[in-house]
Amino acid sequence: MVMDKLSNSLQDALKKLVGAGRIDERTVNDVVKDIQRALLQSDVNVKMVMQLSKSIKERALEEDVPQGMNPREHVIRIVYEELMKIVGEGTDIPLKPQKIMMIGLQGSGKTTTTSKLAHYFQRKGLKPAVICADTFRPGAYQQLKTLCESLNVPFYGEEGNPDAVGIVERGLAEIDKYDVKIIDTAGRHSLENDLIDEMERIHAISSPDYKLLVLDAGIGQQASEQAKAFNDSIGISGVVISKLDGTAKGGGAMSAVAATDSSIAFIGVGETPQDLEKFEADRFISRLLG
Ligand code: GDP
Repeated sequence: MVMDKLSNSLQDALKKLVGAGRIDERTVNDVVKDIQRALLQSDVNVKMVMQLSKSIKERALEEDVPQGMNPREHVIRIVYEELMKIVGEGTDIPLKPQKIMMIGLQGSGKTTTTSKLAHYFQRKGLKPAVICADTFRPGAYQQLKTLCESLNVPFYGEEGNPDAVGIVERGLAEIDKYDVKIIDTAGRHSLENDLIDEMERIHAISSPDYKLLVLDAGIGQQASEQAKAFNDSIGISGVVISKLDGTAKGGGAMSAVAATDSSIAFIGVGETPQDLEKFEADRFISRLLG
């Protein structure tokens, strides 16, 4: 059962409910306080934690414990369901020919994630190819080219040419015969107007099936604002949370996902092209509470 995978801290919190014949307000408050602490430590947005606490409390006290369930199981189910409402089931990127546009701030892990995705589709038997339209960050071209060569994935880029839109146009023609076309775009330290403009032009010219926002798990509270700006500009179809192998638990990124009504497709768990996992809500929730 999914709930068996929930983290130790939640399990500990819920031990308070062991033996409780009925659920009283004090017990529920205790449990909710523990959950709040865990979520705030994981960088989940304070407002969201408060809303969540309120719903859990209300439901735990108001809803009848279903037949065949003890109070503890009842509360676990409510906590899980409320967290699921925020985290979502995840975005399923289909295994079929398509165009994917990568977006995100500089340093978020966009270029690395591009190679991870190429490897993912390759492993599933599709033929991916990659375009480097990050003409802003020095080294991005060489980094992506090297990664693609190591995977034997066709790569298109024009080193030194700042015309990202032109590169995408020519690149798409060049890699036309491949199944999955992945476009890595420029990120900067913050969302400046010229970046937005370039992103919108690349979006218009490439008509991607998916626009994946890469968010660093450690981004914290600024994540929501950034994600909203990307979403308002070209719309986000899914999120990749990178660097979840580190200490960050992704609560800031999760808050951003909720703020933009998008959902998580993949998580990055290391620096190599192999380090990509499909998003699994229960594991993610467990990590947030851990
Ligand atoms: P970009 O500027 O968004 O293209 O970022 P890069 O792809 O160059 O990544 C920035 C740094 O983060 C690099 O040192 C990557 O190796 C590292 N990185 C990216 N994804 C992950 C990840 O999932 N885990 C870890 N530990 N490092 C990552």
